[in-house]
Amino acid sequence: MSELTTPMVVRTTAELATALTDGPRAVVMTMGALHDGHLELVRRARAEAGSVGQVVVTIFVNPLQFGVGEDLDRYPRDLEGDVAKLAGVGADLVFAPAPEVLYPDGEPVVRVSAGAIGEILEGAIRPGHFDGMLTVVLKLLHLTRPTVAFFGRKDAQQLMAVRQMVRDLNVDVRIVGVPIVREPDGLALSSRNAYLTPEQRIAAVSLSAALRAGQAAAVPGACADDVTVAARRTLEGVAGVVIDYVTLVAETGQPVPPQGPAQGLLLVAARLGKTRLIDNAAIGWPSGQGEDW
Ligand code: AMP
Repeated sequence: MSELTTPMVVRTTAELATALTDGPRAVVMTMGALHDGHLELVRRARAEAGSVGQVVVTIFVNPLQFGVGEDLDRYPRDLEGDVAKLAGVGADLVFAPAPEVLYPDGEPVVRVSAGAIGEILEGAIRPGHFDGMLTVVLKLLHLTRPTVAFFGRKDAQQLMAVRQMVRDLNVDVRIVGVPIVREPDGLALSSRNAYLTPEQRIAAVSLSAALRAGQAAAVPGACADDVTVAARRTLEGVAGVVIDYVTLVAETGQPVPPQGPAQGLLLVAARLGKTRLIDNAAIGWPSGQGEDW
């Protein structure tokens, strides 16, 4: 397909099944309100699928992964604008189901459990989030039947949980993690950045600054604690920023002990007013092989 055609939009599972083509397929799952981070995933999907393959983007704000009091109702939605953006990056097909399409009987009785990784960090602050996320990801994998699926490293715990599910449940798909796309000042692109006031937007740059401070502290002989303390200090001085966590995790997704090696993935989460932002950076990850995970 030509890179600049407007993708076809389907809303039901029957329409989706009819629109799927034979041959390789690359899928990008999103909640919409697309920005250049999402579009980078689609560009990568297009490059991978080549001219014979099909690129499918799903747009679905999954109620199952939002907790009580979270931003499900105010989460930004703009299907028309999203489809226009996708036309420029080579998406062939958009699957944008209503909640009733994916959950015709209401909330599903049987769900995927994320296990240990679902209990810590984002999972501790958002109970049930990773179970809800994995449940919809597995449904969307079944419905779109991709050869390869692209996920952003921005949501590091999500990417780890998806990889674990694919391994544990023998899902026949290749998972590719895509580097974080950032604003020029370092802020990781996120649909939730739209909630920030101008003052909060300025303060938000402290998350990526904290990650850089953490990386800079990972000198030879440093331990995990040196990294997290340096990152935390950067955030602590910033008015209007409330830290949820600053943690170095190992490849298992579990925190590195304070005196353990200064190596892993440094994860930060902070609140600015009602808006929660997350970010992360690799420190010799994985196993010292750089950022290729
Ligand atoms: P979301 O719509 O927020 O659920 O994100 C959909 C996908 O886009 C997920 O795999 C995210 O990790 C990815 N993504 C979101 N923001 C970025 C970013 N700034 N850089 C890279 N990937 C991103």
